[in-house]
Amino acid sequence: MNNKFQIAVDGPVAAGKGTVCRLVAERLGILYVDTGAMYRVAAMVAMSAGVDFQDEEKLVPLIKSADIQLKIPQENEKDGRLLTILLDGKDVSWQIRTEIVGHGSSQVAKLAGVRQALVKKQQDIAENQSVVMEGRDITYRVLPDAKLKIYLTGSDLVRAKRRHQQLLGKGRDLSFEEVRKDLLQRDHDDTTREHDPLQIVSDAWVIDTSDMPIGKVVSMIIDRVKAIISSNKHE
Ligand code: C5P
Repeated sequence: MNNKFQIAVDGPVAAGKGTVCRLVAERLGILYVDTGAMYRVAAMVAMSAGVDFQDEEKLVPLIKSADIQLKIPQENEKDGRLLTILLDGKDVSWQIRTEIVGHGSSQVAKLAGVRQALVKKQQDIAENQSVVMEGRDITYRVLPDAKLKIYLTGSDLVRAKRRHQQLLGKGRDLSFEEVRKDLLQRDHDDTTREHDPLQIVSDAWVIDTSDMPIGKVVSMIIDRVKAIISSNKHE
């Protein structure tokens, strides 16, 4: 794509955002940005420095100075990851996926200063290039002028089943009920936090992925992008 085209995607846990956005980005030849990974890196920064997840004063300067890079996986990195994440040059793509980091990420995501620092990094990434960016505050805080805004969701049951399957695949022995409870708790935390809670903006296109194959969701989005580009050409 020649002109900058921003696609902003928000949605709850296990709605399929990562897989859908990665495929849309691949089909369009543009960058995929997983902002959740950046909150996970922020939690890792806190852990490595021995700083408490609630200690905003100590944490914010550390996060501001951290070099966080998101890259398309190279041939030798294709091990199921959607993106390669580098923290100060070190590959942390899998380290950030542990439960302790996941838990820490939603703690640090509550801090206004941490959000500000990461939103700035995300806006810098999208400044000069086309992106598909996903998270919880992209449609209204990070990229409020995005040409396409999407809220990707799914029923609690389908999302919990997906997350349960993912965890079983990783060798984790958790009951479906435990996974469902954790997912509902994270939904609750994300939608009720004080700063930039997850919400559906009025100009978002809401897509429910409960009964739709991923390929169908991806092609619907690509068709919509093409329609927007062609209507802009004729304006
Ligand atoms: O998407 P993922 O589950 O990896 O995100 C980790 C955590 O980061 C989430 O629990 C969410 O609270 C937080 N987050 C956020 N804003 C974003 C992306 C993620 O608060 N834009």
